[in-house]
Amino acid sequence: MEDNQPAIDWDDLTFSFTETDRMYITTCKQGEEWSPGIMQDFQNLSLSPAAGVINYGQGLFEGMKARRAEDGRVILFRPELNARRSAEGCRRLGMPEVPEEMFLDAVHQCVKENIQWLPPTGRGELYIRPLIFGSGAILGVAPAPEYTFLVYTVPVGPYFKGGLNPISLRVSDEYHRAAPGGSGGVKAIGNYAPGMMPSKKAKADGYAEIIYLDAVNHQFVEEVGAANFFCIKNQVIYTPELTGTILPGITRLSVIELARSLGYEVHETKVDIALAMDSDEAFCAGTAAVISPIGSIEHGEKIATYCNGEVGAITKELYDALTGILEGRADDPFGWTPSVD
Ligand SMILES: *Cc1c(COP(=O)(O)O)cnc(C)c1O
Repeated sequence: MEDNQPAIDWDDLTFSFTETDRMYITTCKQGEEWSPGIMQDFQNLSLSPAAGVINYGQGLFEGMKARRAEDGRVILFRPELNARRSAEGCRRLGMPEVPEEMFLDAVHQCVKENIQWLPPTGRGELYIRPLIFGSGAILGVAPAPEYTFLVYTVPVGPYFKGGLNPISLRVSDEYHRAAPGGSGGVKAIGNYAPGMMPSKKAKADGYAEIIYLDAVNHQFVEEVGAANFFCIKNQVIYTPELTGTILPGITRLSVIELARSLGYEVHETKVDIALAMDSDEAFCAGTAAVISPIGSIEHGEKIATYCNGEVGAITKELYDALTGILEGRADDPFGWTPSVD
């Protein structure tokens, strides 16, 4: 661990790539067990041009954040759920599962050895990016003979520079993110490239992201780019149920548990776009976005505006409750924020 502080202006941080010092890496042959990895300097990888991941997209990623609490502790948020979700993704993609203890040990080591890149309290987070992919060479469409598990970190700024700004979204009638029986329910790397062009078009038209509807009925809300969707009508909270096409977000699960503990009724159900458009409040939730209030949704000729573009009361209450725990300011009765020491 180095003491020297990197030359970085913590107030200029955005959600973008910055190279840090160290990374965790290990490999595993198909049919064998993972052996514990090593920490090494951050560096480029050397891969066969026939590596499974670059030819057929066999790989997945995870995303989590470490924060510095006011009392000096470095805390994570429910990292065991990322470990378990990655194992599920490995099973779906025919890759060997990284054991939970190894996953967590890699995350801890990586945070510790990049601790000088962890922003001061309240000024950002150290984003943690675990990757598991087929690094062995293979020509036929089949699982690769060798896999790599690596973890790197990047300092990122708060998602909301000027506080909580409600975002404008557009419903896509043209594109879908995932279909039943596909890989939408895991963080497969191949799920993300097809969303780039639609998302870029929406941004060029002034929207923050697009809302995807289900691929069968074109009627039920699935997700907002890479975040989960919530809406609130008559004090009742609705979020799309997990059907295999929706990514089971850890922020989503935490919002559901937190809302129920605050006394709200939460329905995990099919959320008709008509209900979403007719709601009192709406927001999306994910590790990068935390909770982003939605100010308006455009669907064809219709535009729904929520709370006159202001942040709704229940959205604000959930945001305060969740960020209190995430940032280590509030009590954590659930035990969601283990320390890195
Ligand atoms: C990662 C991700 C989310 C959010 O999951 P979190 O665990 O809350 O970060 C939602 N949707 C998609 C498509 C994602 O990739």
